[in-house]
Amino acid sequence: MSELTELYQEVILDHNRKPRNYGEMENFSGQADGYNPLCGDRIKVFLRLEGGQITDIKFQGTGCAISQASASLMTEALKGKSVDDSNRLFEDFRSLVTGNSPNATSKSLGKLMAFGGVSKYPVRVKCATLAWHTLKAALEDQGQCTTEK
Ligand code: ZN
Repeated sequence: MSELTELYQEVILDHNRKPRNYGEMENFSGQADGYNPLCGDRIKVFLRLEGGQITDIKFQGTGCAISQASASLMTEALKGKSVDDSNRLFEDFRSLVTGNSPNATSKSLGKLMAFGGVSKYPVRVKCATLAWHTLKAALEDQGQCTTEK
């Protein structure tokens, strides 16, 4: 029970119950779909970029609490951030959930620290990072749109 409590922290349960920035976006500049076959999680990320800054971000998805809460917390953390900052945050987050960052602090990650317990459950790492990988693809989608023709 204590292990489960550690994995499913209150902030994760809260974001799973009431996901933030959930829904579709019109006039998005980048969009991508992510799928985690290990668990069946699906995430769709929409984002609007202006001058290298994420001015708006939304997601839709189905799947386990970890995957949905991760997407919700990610959108909250990234709104208003630059693309560079979001890449840096992804690196910090990935280090946290894979357990490669024993010194990870709440300074940069804030509420995302709630996923620290995931590092003890390797099979759940993909649940936690799915939204972030999908974000990366959405950022690349943007690049393709702007360079085509
Ligand atoms: Zn999952």
